[in-house]
Amino acid sequence: MQPRDLSNHTAYEAGRGIEEVARELGLDPESLVKLSSNENPFGPAPKAVEAIRRHAPSVHSYPKSSAADLRERLAGEFAVDAGQVWLANGGDGALDYLARATLRPGDGVLVPTPGFAYYAMSARYHHGVVNEYPLRKSEGFEQSPEAILEAYAGERIVYLTTPHNPTGSEISLTGIKAVAEGTDEETLVLVDEAYGEFSGSPSAVALTEERDDVAVLRTFSKAYGLAGLRLGYAIVPGEWADAYARINTPFAASEIACRAGLAALDDEAHVEKTVETAAWAREYVYETLACPSWESAGNFVLCEVGDGGDVAAAAQREGVIVRDTTSFGLPGCIRITCGTREGTKRAVEVLNGLV
Ligand SMILES: *Cc1c(COP(=O)(O)O)cnc(C)c1O
Repeated sequence: MQPRDLSNHTAYEAGRGIEEVARELGLDPESLVKLSSNENPFGPAPKAVEAIRRHAPSVHSYPKSSAADLRERLAGEFAVDAGQVWLANGGDGALDYLARATLRPGDGVLVPTPGFAYYAMSARYHHGVVNEYPLRKSEGFEQSPEAILEAYAGERIVYLTTPHNPTGSEISLTGIKAVAEGTDEETLVLVDEAYGEFSGSPSAVALTEERDDVAVLRTFSKAYGLAGLRLGYAIVPGEWADAYARINTPFAASEIACRAGLAALDDEAHVEKTVETAAWAREYVYETLACPSWESAGNFVLCEVGDGGDVAAAAQREGVIVRDTTSFGLPGCIRITCGTREGTKRAVEVLNGLV
């Protein structure tokens, strides 16, 4: 027997790993500057590392109280009920839960293009049909509610990303509300705030209190530096709380992930340093890089370089790994993650020799 017909599913292309590239180039991984996956250049929150060590001896137990504690803690941070916090295996896992909770076979979803590939992948796994709305380069990748609603044809989920990966653009709370108002009652507006910590704009979580058709995704992968741990969550409308127990993969957020997440929330200095440095780096890239780029509210900058594949390959030969955005639907560009001051300067220096 064979798996079902998967021909309309695409394989996810992750940014290249540092060991993988170092081996291929015959270089020391330490000498590479990896700015291809929007990871935290300072590593994980130190308090999270300590918690991971401390809780290693208790991984024989299923994560029950730690998950409950983390849900309570996050609920406190956002002033929602613990039932509204759906912990998951990364933000990607939260996307799966929201698709699982809402899609019936054949339901449509509306995703941004360019955009994050996993929205469409997750929707297809859950037997959804994918339609797209454009963010236009000619309009600075602006996310206008009018343009989104113009593309809308009754889909069950509309995905918004703010700050948007890979362009860095944002949509305001007023804009999000306009999308929610302009779509059917049975349409979920899913606001992906994976980069929310890097933006000065208010979170859309407030809307989950006043509406039953907005959910927000957050993750520990970016600002908290826990990408390898896989911890993210959705915050859903109060009315939805009961659905979690019916759709979640049991214990998808591991004991270590929950403990590390709790500790990371206490590590304010680490997040502050991360956010401050990203703000410096995105400004530096925008100002100093010798090719057009877009102002970003995230921890990355999109740059127009001609041929993204060629430039990314050439930079890699010089030890700087950036992301070719062809798989996002932007073949002419690369995305540079904000590094440390040193790493960011080195990346700009190398890229300026290439563009
Ligand atoms: C990184 C990212 C996520 C979530 O990543 P996880 O590592 O699964 O938490 C979600 N959306 C966007 C746009 C991202 O860039």
